[in-house]
Amino acid sequence: MRVFSTVQSMREWSDSCFRAGERIGFVPTMGCLHEGHMSLVRLAREMADVTVVSIFVNPTQFGPGEDFERYPRVLGSDLSMCEATGVDAVFTPAVSEMYAEDASTIVEEAAISRGMCGASRPGHFRGVATVVAKLFNIVKPAVAVFGRKDAQQLMVIKRMVRDLNFPVEIVAAPIVRESDGLAMSSRNRYLSADERMVALGINRALRWAEARYANGERSARSIAAGIGERISGGGVAVPEYVEVVAAEDMKPVSELGPGIMIAVAARVGATRLIDNVVLGVV
Ligand code: AMP
Repeated sequence: MRVFSTVQSMREWSDSCFRAGERIGFVPTMGCLHEGHMSLVRLAREMADVTVVSIFVNPTQFGPGEDFERYPRVLGSDLSMCEATGVDAVFTPAVSEMYAEDASTIVEEAAISRGMCGASRPGHFRGVATVVAKLFNIVKPAVAVFGRKDAQQLMVIKRMVRDLNFPVEIVAAPIVRESDGLAMSSRNRYLSADERMVALGINRALRWAEARYANGERSARSIAAGIGERISGGGVAVPEYVEVVAAEDMKPVSELGPGIMIAVAARVGATRLIDNVVLGVV
């Protein structure tokens, strides 16, 4: 497995793959890798000839007072996981390698990114779209895999790729959960044992909503209210938003149905967690 920390070395390797006729599959991450990330890697490996993972805690997608400084950085074990999962190359640049001090160009998606996490984290998706555009230009993948856990991010990237004609296929991967239902996240390691129990309530509330839907409930408003009550019931988790939206454009809807997403962000102690479900046909 190759490890690159400069833009130039990463580019040269990608170019050599291209010349050899190999399709690059790409999984962008912020590191502190877990099974969720590895499921994306396995999908990328199925769809491409060689696989690149980037590990970069991107400062521009963190707001003031967010967890950029304390975001877990565990490069050694990340590299072992990548190697064990058959990754061909890891790109792990320093912030100074990715951003010129006077960088003044951004990529901004201006519709899908407005609500939900975009409303509570102003500038977040601008940082995400900008860094992913840069990574696409450096790694030059034929296919890139993103997780449905960050459903809004996935749709922002899809829109960016369509609108700016990036020659890359975007593939969506299912949410990977712990055995008790908690969506895997690098941020789960912030949780104390008590907080983790509380965090389980997020997924439990989403399962409750699915069951209500299967029993005939169709009101988005009443389901969102029920989820909010369930999450905050213990008094420890604070829901940031509960949104019922169309999965393809994140626009709020009033009626539940197939393809409708219920998305939640909540704070458990100091930790911000997100989760979602997409309703099926019943
Ligand atoms: P992150 O390192 O948190 O920026 O995530 C990198 C990629 O992994 C994103 O496309 C995420 O959506 C995806 N990802 C993170 N956690 C999960 C999970 N539990 N299941 C599926 N994909 C995930």
